Amino acid sequence: MNEKEILLEIKNLKTYFPIKSSNLLGKGGQAKAVDGVSFELYKGETLGIVGESGSGKSTLGRTILRLIEPTEGEIIFEGHPLQQLKRRKLQEHRKYMQMVFQDPFASLNPRKRVEQIIEEPLAEQKVLSKSERSRKVEELITKVGLPKESLKKFPHEFSGGQRQRIGIARALSMNPKFIIADEPVSALDVSIQSQVLNLMMDLQDEFDLTYLFISHDLSVVKHISDRVGVMYLGRIVEIGTKKEIFENPQHPYTKALLSAIPVVNFEGEKQAIQLTGEPPSPANPPTGCAFHPRCPFAMESCKIERPNLIQFEDRQQVACHLYSEEEFYSKAENSTSAI
Ligand code: SF4
Repeated sequence: MNEKEILLEIKNLKTYFPIKSSNLLGKGGQAKAVDGVSFELYKGETLGIVGESGSGKSTLGRTILRLIEPTEGEIIFEGHPLQQLKRRKLQEHRKYMQMVFQDPFASLNPRKRVEQIIEEPLAEQKVLSKSERSRKVEELITKVGLPKESLKKFPHEFSGGQRQRIGIARALSMNPKFIIADEPVSALDVSIQSQVLNLMMDLQDEFDLTYLFISHDLSVVKHISDRVGVMYLGRIVEIGTKKEIFENPQHPYTKALLSAIPVVNFEGEKQAIQLTGEPPSPANPPTGCAFHPRCPFAMESCKIERPNLIQFEDRQQVACHLYSEEEFYSKAENSTSAI
């Protein structure tokens, strides 16, 4: 993996949705689903995006692919700012960016045979002949571990794991450089999850792919990611290598998420420490640090000022006043084992 070659740059990306109001003026507010996200994605790596439901991670993925129009910010793919491209140029670059969805059953047309489903994007491109397309489709179905006979069947004739393999084959048909996988294994049995994850990792090596892997499941993210970004209410609150995030988390939210992973105690039972309180609504976010109503270390300044993402020592980036203000630095040192 070439760590220095940037494939994708996201700068201050915002996706706001209008909220309908019942008041007489008809003026509602805005739900800030993604609220100022910036990161770089290096060629060949997997960046895991993790957070609770409602953190904005799926909206982030869809905005990057322009399935949802951003409110503000920049999406730069291979040096090209996508918002500035005209439709045709955008399509040229967009074909290298594909998505694998959570629910393969919903994303595969039930009335079409697998052969048509995988071939369709290729036919739209009008680059390959019919026989070349057929050869490519056969090659792809084999690459994802399904027999060629699968091509004549319909999606309902497959298990969830097999359908996800078909979804991956379809995404690969366009020779993508970058794939956003949005909760690709969360609908699958645990025993099947690791098979699909391992398949994705093998294909990443073989096809030189870069992944943005979105999941609420920390163990899944740990399995597949090189780096991890933790999202809370539309913002990244911590980002670093997998080792930094899982072995030395700094943000109180990351620590709480990690402590909620069930661990086996000496009696062999599973214990889970729950993160207290519900995540606030993006339509009505708390002032200052959005995590302050749930944070055991919240200070007065946390209710007023929103912390920026800053480099912690030489390692991960963290958005927390414990790390951004000199006088609170020692508190951070003392608090690392408190959650
Ligand atoms: Fe907690 Fe304050 Fe840090 Fe937010 S900024 S995570 S409230 S200590």
